[in-house]
Amino acid sequence: MQDYDLNGHARQCPHCQSVARFTIIQVKGTVGTHWVTCEEADLITIYGLYECTNCHHAIMMVYEVVEELSVNDPPIRRYVLKHVFPSSDVAVAASLPPEIREDLEEACVCIKAGAFKAAVVMCRRVVEGVCQDKNVRPGPLPQRLRALKDQLGLITDDILAWAEEIKELGNAGAHADRRVTVTLEDAKDALDFVQAILNVLYVLPERLSKRKHREAIP
Ligand SMILES: [Zn+2]
Repeated sequence: MQDYDLNGHARQCPHCQSVARFTIIQVKGTVGTHWVTCEEADLITIYGLYECTNCHHAIMMVYEVVEELSVNDPPIRRYVLKHVFPSSDVAVAASLPPEIREDLEEACVCIKAGAFKAAVVMCRRVVEGVCQDKNVRPGPLPQRLRALKDQLGLITDDILAWAEEIKELGNAGAHADRRVTVTLEDAKDALDFVQAILNVLYVLPERLSKRKHREAIP
């Protein structure tokens, strides 16, 4: 069995986060710009489309040859996994304040571990961290979020609504109310909202100022 043959192998699914078995939908290689079957010689890159047996969503894995183990016909080669699509890794921007970045990274770790209640609590913590970083006076989170919009003019109605949703999800994760469940979808929503807020408040402003800086250099 080649390294790229995932049939029967388990790995973490980026869609449902469970450690599931994957079956092959199709695996093909490329030689230059041509698609070929995996048995053909001189493969450089292999693209495999696989199905998660738990949620039935597809992932694509890209492998590259790292070593020629034997020149038999067909040759035996060792491949390493280079990319997985979709990736379950969230790109955490370096431009975020360190405490916020740390909490966001922890939210991602929680989602990967299937700890969805913990993930939404961490997302809520990121929102609180934003209030702190923007010097909003301590107090109940709903008031602090309003202050971000009304007093500081830093966020719009849309962003306020996302932040309030994260607060609600975070409460659902933090309080031992057995009637409330927190799902993977809830955790992914909280993470998406929190990332959108961080993009607006930190990541994109820094990109713009870097652009302006570059443009100013003759
Ligand atoms: Zn899955």
